[in-house]
Amino acid sequence: MAYDDSNVFALILRGEIPCDKVFEDDHVLAFRDINPQTAVHILVIPKGAYVAMDDFSANASDAEIVALNRAVGQIARDQGLAETGYRTLVNNGASAGQEVPHLHIHIFGGQPLGRMIKPPQAQ
Ligand code: AMP
Repeated sequence: MAYDDSNVFALILRGEIPCDKVFEDDHVLAFRDINPQTAVHILVIPKGAYVAMDDFSANASDAEIVALNRAVGQIARDQGLAETGYRTLVNNGASAGQEVPHLHIHIFGGQPLGRMIKPPQAQ
């Protein structure tokens, strides 16, 4: 899938709409989800134009890949989640229900999170 630079996270990266920023470095931006599913719900995104993990893992530089992973750990520590535990999740493509076509890592925490995933028939 070609990158669509009108997606909402591209608008945030260009400063065209606001976000509740929690972290930024040369390669990464992180902000609070506008519709949080847990007490703490943060989205961590690369600044580069990558649709999903397939695109990112194939085309991002080593520096971008390292930065995204280091940012997730840093944010978890900064938010006090590292000791209590937290969950990371990436939706990739249609079957996963990805809504925004710019790679984003969800960080969920701040409360007990239950089972990792519900079987589809239970949803
Ligand atoms: P996904 O279903 O994995 O693509 O998740 C997209 C996430 O982006 C959802 O959790 C939305 O609540 C979140 N979202 C959409 N628009 C915004 C926005 N402007 N600021 C912050 N989060 C957003």
